[in-house]
Amino acid sequence: MTKTTADKKTAAKRSKAASPRKTRAKAQAETVTTPDVVATHIAAPQTHAPVLAHTAGSNDALMARRNAAVPRGVASAMPFFAAKAENAELWDVEGNRYIDFAGGIAVLNTGHRHAKVVEAAKAQEDLYTHTSFQVVPYEPYVALAEKLNALAPGEFEKKSLLVTTGAEAVENAVKIARAHTGRPGIIAFSGGYHGRTLMTLGLTGKVTPYKKDVGPFPTDIFRAPFPDARQGVTVEDALKALETLMLTDADPSRIAAIILEPVLGEGGYVPVPAEMWQALRAICDKHGILLISDEIQAGFGRTGTWFAIEHSGVAPDLITVAKSMAGGYPIAGVIGRADVMDAPMPGGLGGTYGGNPVACAAALAAIEALDSEGLLERSTRMGEHFRARFAEIGARTAPYRMWDIRGLGAMLAVEFVTDFETATPDAALTKSVIAHAQKRGLILLACGMHGNALRIMVPLTASDAIVEEGLEIFEAALADAVAERMAHAAE
Ligand code: PMP
Repeated sequence: MTKTTADKKTAAKRSKAASPRKTRAKAQAETVTTPDVVATHIAAPQTHAPVLAHTAGSNDALMARRNAAVPRGVASAMPFFAAKAENAELWDVEGNRYIDFAGGIAVLNTGHRHAKVVEAAKAQEDLYTHTSFQVVPYEPYVALAEKLNALAPGEFEKKSLLVTTGAEAVENAVKIARAHTGRPGIIAFSGGYHGRTLMTLGLTGKVTPYKKDVGPFPTDIFRAPFPDARQGVTVEDALKALETLMLTDADPSRIAAIILEPVLGEGGYVPVPAEMWQALRAICDKHGILLISDEIQAGFGRTGTWFAIEHSGVAPDLITVAKSMAGGYPIAGVIGRADVMDAPMPGGLGGTYGGNPVACAAALAAIEALDSEGLLERSTRMGEHFRARFAEIGARTAPYRMWDIRGLGAMLAVEFVTDFETATPDAALTKSVIAHAQKRGLILLACGMHGNALRIMVPLTASDAIVEEGLEIFEAALADAVAERMAHAAE
C-alpha cells in the first residue's frame, strides 16, 4: 500500500511521540521548559533519584508496598507513583513525565496546583485549618455558599451546604429532599453514578465493580432508563418508561426527588438531551417532586457553563457539586432552593469536617480563576478542537473503530467498537490504548457501561501545545494497540 502525505506526516508525528520511557526522561533532561523546581528534579534522571523524600523508592518498590498495605478494592489506574505535578503535567518518582488527560477524575479544571488556589490555601493555613463550622463558624464557608448561590441557575433564593465528598453531597441532597417533601422515594437512572456510600450506590445504575458484593442497598430507590439514543433509548422511550414506572412501582405522591447527572460521568459521558430535562421539570412540578442535578463531574466549567444543566435552560431544585469546585482540595456541596435547604432541623445536616476552611479558600480561588481566566469559553473551544482531532484520528484508524465522539464542551469521550455495523464495544482495545498511552507518557481513563470509552478531563488551563502533544501520544498509542491486535490476529 502506498503511503499518502498524510500517512507520512502521521508516521513522523508518531515517531516523535514514540520515544520509550527512559529515552523520554533523558530527552526531557535536555529540553525541559517546565517550572524550575521540576526541571531541577528531572535534570538528573539517570540515577532515578527520588524526587521528594516522602515519595522515596522506585515505582515497582512502591507498588509492592502499596499492594501489601492497601486493600485491592482501592484500584489505581496507573502503575506509577506521583512525585510532582504542575498544571496538565505530572512527574513520577522516577522522573518520568506524563501529560494528564484525567485531571484526578475531573477535579482539575484549573490544573494541578493553580497558583491562585495554592496561594489561597496557604494563606488560610496561616490563620486556622479547622474549627468545625458546627462549633465556631468562619467566613470562607459563608463566602463560598454565597458564591455558589449566586452562580447556580434559577431565579429564586438559594442556600448552600458544604460537605467533604461527592457521595456525601448526594447523601445530603437525598436527606434534604426527604425532609422537605416528607416522602421517601428517589428515582435514579441506568448508567448513573452517584458515589460509593450505600445510599449513593443504591442510586448508582451500574453493578460492576461498584455494587458487587456490598448490598443490600436502601429501599425506595427506583430506576428509570437513561435516554441514550445510541443505545436505542430515545427521550420519548425514556419518558414512556418513567411513566410506566410511576404506574407500576414508584407512586409519584411518594417520590421525594428525581436525580440525574446532566452528562453521565462514569457511565460514559453521554449528555442528557434538553427535552429530557424539560420534561422531567414538568413531571416534577406536576407531582411535587424535587429535581436534583448531580453536577459533581460535569460542573465548574467542564462543559463550557458553570453547571451543565444550564445548556437545557432548566433550573433544578437541588444541585450537588464537588471535584473541580476547589482545584484539588476535598470539598463538596449541595446548592438549592432556600426553602428546601432549610427543611432539615438545626443539627440535621453537617459533619466534623464539612466545608473545611482551607478547602473553602481554595474553592473561592478556583472559581475566581475559572472566571477571570475565561476557562468556560476555553472549555467550549477545547471541546471543538478535541472533536475535530478525534475525527481525524478516527478516520486514520479504520478498521479499529473510534466512534461516537460525544459530550458537552471539554467533557468529551470517544468509544472504541469492533465495527460500525454491530458497534460491539471493544473494551480490550480501549484498555490497550490506555496502557500504551501510559508507556508513552499520557494519563488516560476509561468510562462507560462497557468500559470501551475514553474520557477527556484535561485541565482547561492546559496550553494548546500540551493538548496537541497529548493527542499525538494518543494517536501513537492507538497505533501501538492496533499493531498489537493485528500481530495477535496473525498468530
Ligand atoms: N456523582 C458523580 C456524578 C460523580 O462523578 C462522582 C465521582 N466520580 C460522585 C458523585 C461521587 O463523588 P466522590 O467520589 O467525591 O464521593
